[in-house]
Amino acid sequence: MRVIETIKEMQMFSESVRMEGKKIALVPTMGYLHEGHMSLMREGRKLGDCLIISIYVNPTQFGPSEDLDKYPRDFERDEALAQSVGVDVIFYPSNQEMYPDYYQTYVNVEGVTRNLCGLSRPGHFRGVTTVCAKLFNIAKPHVTVFGKKDFQQLVTIKRMVADLNMDLEVVGLSTIREPDGLAMSSRNTYLKKDERESALSLSRSLKRAKKLYDHGERNAAAIIKDMRTFIEGHPYTTIDYIKICDTVTMEDVATIEREAVVALAVRVGLPRLIDNYVFGEPLKL
Ligand code: AMP
Repeated sequence: MRVIETIKEMQMFSESVRMEGKKIALVPTMGYLHEGHMSLMREGRKLGDCLIISIYVNPTQFGPSEDLDKYPRDFERDEALAQSVGVDVIFYPSNQEMYPDYYQTYVNVEGVTRNLCGLSRPGHFRGVTTVCAKLFNIAKPHVTVFGKKDFQQLVTIKRMVADLNMDLEVVGLSTIREPDGLAMSSRNTYLKKDERESALSLSRSLKRAKKLYDHGERNAAAIIKDMRTFIEGHPYTTIDYIKICDTVTMEDVATIEREAVVALAVRVGLPRLIDNYVFGEPLKL
């Protein structure tokens, strides 16, 4: 396994792999790898002859009052985990490499980024799409793998790739959870013991939403009200949003008719956690 820190070297490597007629899979991450990332990497290993992951805590997707400086990092541990699933290259650039002096170009996807995290985290998706567009130009993947845990992000990346005619396939994979249902996230490490218990209210509220839906409930407000009351019954929780959206437009729906996702963001103590459930799909909890 190689660690590549410069864009030039990464591009030369990827170009040579492409010249050999081999397929490149890319898994973008911010590091501090967990089983969610591992599942993406295992899929990437199957999809590509060459598996590249990127580890980069992208400053442009963090707001000024967010956790950029505190974001957990452990490169040595990440290296060992990447090695264990057969990663060929870790692309590990510096900020100076990614955003040198005079940098001024950003990619902005419009409609699907307006709601949900786009409302609570202004500029977040602009940072995500910009860094992903750059990573696609640097690692030159044929296929890239993202998690459905960040559902709006996946929809946004798919939109960007389609709209800008980027020549790659975007694969979305199911959320990996702790045995008790908590969606895995690098930010879970911030949770104190009691908060960890309250954090289970997110996935449990999704389970309640699924049950209501399975029993025929299609009124979004009714499902959201049940989830809100349930989560508010747990200490340390502050709800940012709970919304039911069309999976194509990411706009709120009043009644569930087409494919819809219920997405929520909740602060549990300090950390802000997100989770979601696409109605009609299985939910392993
Ligand atoms: P991050 O390092 O948090 O930026 O995440 C990198 C990739 O891993 C993104 O595509 C995420 O959606 C995905 N991911 C994060 N957590 C999970 C999870 N629990 N299950 C599946 N994928 C995940």
